[in-house]
Amino acid sequence: MRRQVEILIIGQGICGSFLHLELEKAGVSHIVIDEALPFTASRVAAGLINPVTGRRLVTTWMIDQLLAFAVDAYQRLAGVLGSTFLEPVVVADLFPTAQMRLAFLNRLEEGGPYLRLPADEYDLLGRFHYTFGYGLIESCYLVDLPGLLAAVRRQMKEQHLLWEERFEAGELEVADTQIRYRDIEARRIIFCDGVASFSNPYFSRLPFAPNKGEALIVEIPEFQRQRTVFKKGISLVPWRDDLYWVGSSYEWSFEHAQPTEEFRQRTEAALREWLKQPFRTVEHLASVRPATLERRPFVGFHPVHTAVGILNGMGTKGCSLAPYFAHELVRFISTGSPIRVDADVKRFTRVLSRH
Ligand SMILES: Cc1cc2nc3c(=O)[nH]c(=O)nc-3n(C[C@H](O)[C@H](O)[C@H](O)COP(=O)(O)OP(=O)(O)OC[C@H]3O[C@@H](n4cnc5c(N)ncnc54)[C@H](O)[C@@H]3O)c2cc1C
Repeated sequence: MRRQVEILIIGQGICGSFLHLELEKAGVSHIVIDEALPFTASRVAAGLINPVTGRRLVTTWMIDQLLAFAVDAYQRLAGVLGSTFLEPVVVADLFPTAQMRLAFLNRLEEGGPYLRLPADEYDLLGRFHYTFGYGLIESCYLVDLPGLLAAVRRQMKEQHLLWEERFEAGELEVADTQIRYRDIEARRIIFCDGVASFSNPYFSRLPFAPNKGEALIVEIPEFQRQRTVFKKGISLVPWRDDLYWVGSSYEWSFEHAQPTEEFRQRTEAALREWLKQPFRTVEHLASVRPATLERRPFVGFHPVHTAVGILNGMGTKGCSLAPYFAHELVRFISTGSPIRVDADVKRFTRVLSRH
């Protein structure tokens, strides 16, 4: 049976999910093809939105705009999917060294936003071993990615929008103003396929910089649950079913995307030194972040094959970037309103136009 739609989406991670939700809102017909891979970046991610980054605690790119937009976008999900999948949290940054403490205090003194000191920097000694006090990072949020992805998937199935299978790039036919894939005819195709785009015939020349991350899922029965993410080199993040996500590594060079014994041993040793309560590892996750060399996303349509688009390159920040740029992309489709130049793939017109 032939299906005709406006947009064919490839991939249902955080990008494909928000693209679907935005297209729904705009009344644009679409179909999604996603093979249910278990260890995609969105399924392995902690789900944290943190407005500051790095040792110098600088505010992340566009954060004021992104935070306001993301909070609104997740809150709107309550009306569509029955939950916001978003929880405000505070990050307790336990300083691993005296230098890190000084860096925090200096940033605070400079007026660095989102930072403050707790009333008592040693009130966590009942739970953790630490020497140099801690600071707090505010306006952070935790996204329940497994819950969100499952709810979006359910909705797509109910609406008969989801093809649960592998997309084969070799079977895609692209013309100027339409594409065809098996029985699907669409005006446009948009790739939200995460790291698979690195070998996509249309976008493989974009400067992707794959980054591997691993995490452990642990059980800490005696740990009192709070709306807090604890950090000291590694992060301890509340996860579903009263479990905790512990991670992560950031590897630019790696041989495979699988979990490694080396990470497990190193992380368990660090956790044993840090935590005062016993824990047990119940799962070990690994995936590759679709990061980019200049740390900016890839959004928009191919400069030559204008029926072929992309929403990708979210790197370490899919939870805050995907809602915003899915919206920009759909606004472009519906009204022609331009995509931010530093996110639009048109900035790579030269490299994408080469034969
Ligand atoms: C360990 C780790 C921790 C992280 N922590 C955070 C965090 O705390 N906060 C944050 O904001 N970000 C975090 N990230 C980054 C975040 O995961 C990514 O930015 C985001 O998930 C990317 O989403 P995506 O939709 O682009 O890709 P993906 O999640 O990879 O989704 C791509 C989808 O496309 C499908 N697909 C691919 N190829 C095909 C094909 N040929 N046919 C059919 N389907 C296909 C896949 O099955 C998948 O469902 C973390 C990443 C990792 C690895």
